[in-house]
Amino acid sequence: MLILREQIHRERQGIMRSTDEFATAQKRLLQDALTDPLTQLPNRRNGLDFLASELVFAQSSGAPLACLMLDIDHFKAVNDTLGHSKGDLVLQAFADTVRHSVRETDVLARWGGEEFVLLLCDTPAEEAAALLGRVRQAVQAMRVPLPQGGEPIAITVSIGLACHVQSGTLAHTLERADKALYAAKAQGRNRVV
Ligand code: GH3
Ligand code: MG
Ligand code: MG
Repeated sequence: MLILREQIHRERQGIMRSTDEFATAQKRLLQDALTDPLTQLPNRRNGLDFLASELVFAQSSGAPLACLMLDIDHFKAVNDTLGHSKGDLVLQAFADTVRHSVRETDVLARWGGEEFVLLLCDTPAEEAAALLGRVRQAVQAMRVPLPQGGEPIAITVSIGLACHVQSGTLAHTLERADKALYAAKAQGRNRVV
C-alpha cells in the first residue's frame, strides 16, 4: 500500500509538472504568433485585433481615434547599397525610435516590410498631427550606427493620418490612412498628410 501510495504521489507530481510546462509552451507559442520577431512589435494579425477593439471602444465612448500608416522612405536603397542585414538594423532602430516617441497607451504594429501602423487612442486630429510631427522629426534625427563603423544610416518616414469617423468601418479607416500615405509620398516624402 505504501509503495503504491508513493507511486501515485510521484505520478501526480509528474502530471502537474507537464501541465505547467504545457501552459508555459502554449503561452510562448501564442506570444510568438502575435509578435514580429525582428522588431518585437505586435505583428499585423495582432495589430488588427488591437484596431478592432480600439474601434469598438471609440465607437461606444465617442472618443476620437487616430489611425496612422507609416512607411520608411526609399528603404529599398538601404538594402541595395548596404545589404539586407543593415536594412534589418534600420527596421529595429526605426521601431524603437517610434515606440519611444509615442505614449505607452498608443499601439505600434509592424504591418509588413517597412510599413507600420500606429493607433493613437483618445486623440483628436490636431493633437495627432502635432505628435506625428515629433515622430517624423525623431526618425529624421535618428542615426543607425554600423557594426563595422563608417557613416551611420539616416532615414526619413512618410505618414498618412486618418481619424476614425463614427459611421465608418475598420477597412474604410485603414483605406483612408493608406490614401493619405500615398499623398505624403507623392508630395515629396518625409511628411505627414
Ligand atoms: P518608398 O519611399 O516609395 O516607400 O520606397 P521604398 O524603397 O521604401 O519602397 P519599396 O516598396 O520599393 O521597397 C521596400 C523594401 O523593403 C523592399 C524590401 O526588400 C524591403 N524589406 C521588406 N521587409 C524587409 C525586412 O524584413 N528586412 C529588410 N532588410 N528589408 C525588407
Ligand atoms: Mg512600402
Ligand atoms: Mg517605403
